Amino acid sequence: MTFGNIIGHEQQKKLLRHAFSSDKLAHAYLFSGIEGIGKRLMALALARMVFCHEGKGCGNCNACRRIDHNNHPDLHLLETNGQFIKIEQIRTLQKNLAFRPLEAPRHFVLIDQAERMHPGAANALLKTLEEPPNGTIFVLLSAHPHTLPSTIRSRCQTLPFSHLSNAEIEKVLRTQVDDEVERNILAALAQGSLSKAFGADRDFYLNTRREIFTAIARLNPASVLPMLELAPTLAPDREYAEAVTDILISCYRDLFILASRASGALVVNTDLEQELRHLSSRCSPTCASAMLDAILQCRTYLQHNVNPLLAMEWLLSRLVFQAPRKS
Ligand SMILES: [Zn+2]
Repeated sequence: MTFGNIIGHEQQKKLLRHAFSSDKLAHAYLFSGIEGIGKRLMALALARMVFCHEGKGCGNCNACRRIDHNNHPDLHLLETNGQFIKIEQIRTLQKNLAFRPLEAPRHFVLIDQAERMHPGAANALLKTLEEPPNGTIFVLLSAHPHTLPSTIRSRCQTLPFSHLSNAEIEKVLRTQVDDEVERNILAALAQGSLSKAFGADRDFYLNTRREIFTAIARLNPASVLPMLELAPTLAPDREYAEAVTDILISCYRDLFILASRASGALVVNTDLEQELRHLSSRCSPTCASAMLDAILQCRTYLQHNVNPLLAMEWLLSRLVFQAPRKS
């Protein structure tokens, strides 16, 4: 993986390239930004540039190839072991860094999900971050940098990564997905994250989305049981419940567009257009907007640690009972 292969993030590439070529790389970087936008790829591309025998991340030399196969002895990758990155992992790393690098000019440490460092681990890392032995370069990755101890953040140069634009995601999707409807839905739901568009979520976005929307649209205020049965399947855990709210936001945004008699060209979930049009015929713009508000409120509840099942039951009841209907 070279910088050239990474989609977007041109400013970040420029900055890192310049720092490397002028021998001004910081000893510790914090790459911040949501999951799945290329932070890790960028860190590996940087490691390749630093280790490459050609000095450019050629992709062909022994060093580049070993990084690509994740078996370079001087590239140290730390990931969560269970829920956390543990203090023992930091101690082992420190022992390794005390020796001169085996093959590369310096050690390169990549800490993924750095906010998962156990407080003890973060504390143990502080001194090493301050005076990295043997010119070691650290790159910490985090989607939640504000939860890192300020002592860690202050020792790193932060490089924020923004969401990819829809145009950037569509560019990649065009090379990989033939179906235009699928492409539009994935681009709209990926929210700037390529791993969302291509990862395990893909089936969720394309198929489960349809099932969930249809199941909710079929709920009937006269019968509570189906709603109580549906809620747990939509909220087995917080992460899943949040993903459900993402797809509902997209569907009910479409409903709002149709209820407002705005251009159907703005509708994203074109594969659900028939169901959406049917629902919108019974729903005023105010009603659709109230439903959308309820979904956003549910999302806020989930982010504030409300029990996911309770939040989902609340949402379904709002979508079924509370939202005003056209008389
Ligand atoms: Zn190379």
